[in-house]
Amino acid sequence: MEFDTVVIHYGEIGIKGKNRPFFEKVLLDNVKMHLKRFRGLKVRRISGRLIVEIAEDLNLEELRKELLKIHGIHHFSFSKSCPLDIEEIKRVTVEFAKEYSQNESFRVECVRANKKFEISSQEVNKIVGEEISRKRNLKVNLKHPDHTIFIEICEEKAYVYDNKIYGLKGLPVGVSGKVIALISGGIDSPVASFLAMKRGCRVVFVHFFNITGHSSGVKGKVERIVRVLNEYQRNSKLYLVPFRDVQMELIKKVPSKYRMLIYRRFMFRIASEIAEKENAKALVVGDSISQVASQTLENLNAVYNTSRLVVLPPLIGMDKEEIIEMAKKLGTYEISIEPYEDCCSFMIAKHPETKGDIKIIEEIESHIDIEELVKKCLESIIVIDFHES
Ligand code: ATP
Ligand code: MG
Repeated sequence: MEFDTVVIHYGEIGIKGKNRPFFEKVLLDNVKMHLKRFRGLKVRRISGRLIVEIAEDLNLEELRKELLKIHGIHHFSFSKSCPLDIEEIKRVTVEFAKEYSQNESFRVECVRANKKFEISSQEVNKIVGEEISRKRNLKVNLKHPDHTIFIEICEEKAYVYDNKIYGLKGLPVGVSGKVIALISGGIDSPVASFLAMKRGCRVVFVHFFNITGHSSGVKGKVERIVRVLNEYQRNSKLYLVPFRDVQMELIKKVPSKYRMLIYRRFMFRIASEIAEKENAKALVVGDSISQVASQTLENLNAVYNTSRLVVLPPLIGMDKEEIIEMAKKLGTYEISIEPYEDCCSFMIAKHPETKGDIKIIEEIESHIDIEELVKKCLESIIVIDFHES
């Protein structure tokens, strides 16, 4: 079959009432951005769907892969368009049926988005079904057909297809506003960032690094992770925050048992400042309850309360196996498992505090010039923009 169009359906946007035009516009813009590298495409919004007109020589497999990376797409189909004329619709559907073998069954499912078309969808099903049965000698099976031929009657044309490809679903990136994701070189935070995108957040990445002989490679690693995540959200931005000076200062004043917690409190303070600059509305982290020492409820409390904004941990109820499975699907896992040392474990006790007491923490921090440290750190930030991949 020579396809000339892709019909894209969005799911959850449909229930957003007043916001619908805004959601649709964001999805349309995102689809255009993702498909920029394909020449000769035209993307439009028609009758509550997106219609992509494709050129003949387009690589459909590449296009399919790209559409599977766009949040907010529920499903899509490679289709053949035809004029709004029942004879034309019959002709095109018969073309599809030519590819089925003789012992296979089919059914027709018409949706009439354009009510000006005078034949009801029920009638179209019947007319087209009879035509295919007659011309191709195939059996109709309404309950368990081998093939379903879909017909969508839209404003200007009808679209025929027999295959649905399910997408990422969720919401288009950008509709929910911006968040700051604290991203390490580990397995979890890339997955957390992805899940925030899935709920319509534009994610700005922030990574803290401490260059020592050991960890100089982490920065490059995080850059590569963000490059993968950038496939699910074009034009990403990564803030690289040199954390060594802060940490050198902290180890002078913080007992080793409390260092990890206080490093994290500083990360959150600095991330909050970046959020303000970026006009972001939340911080996103890769914590999961009690996965490691830093993630007991006591310690999550002790760290999250340094943020001015709500802290979202999308993985909070997931176990490691589920997170790994998702990281593999996204394509970040292989990079994440390369050995590295996170700056959180710089000069810390073998057994860090698991029940961080906020009173003790505040006492320790009362000897530190927090504002000054945060300010100095912010001055040395490096920003990387990920334009076209
Ligand atoms: P991950 O797999 O994401 O590294 P983790 O299981 O190793 O998580 P922690 O090291 O306690 O757990 O980190 C918890 C969260 O804190 C991370 O998911 C991330 O959001 C944030 N974080 C940790 N280290 C950094 C860092 N160097 N830069 C930015 N954020 C960090
Ligand atoms: Mg980690």
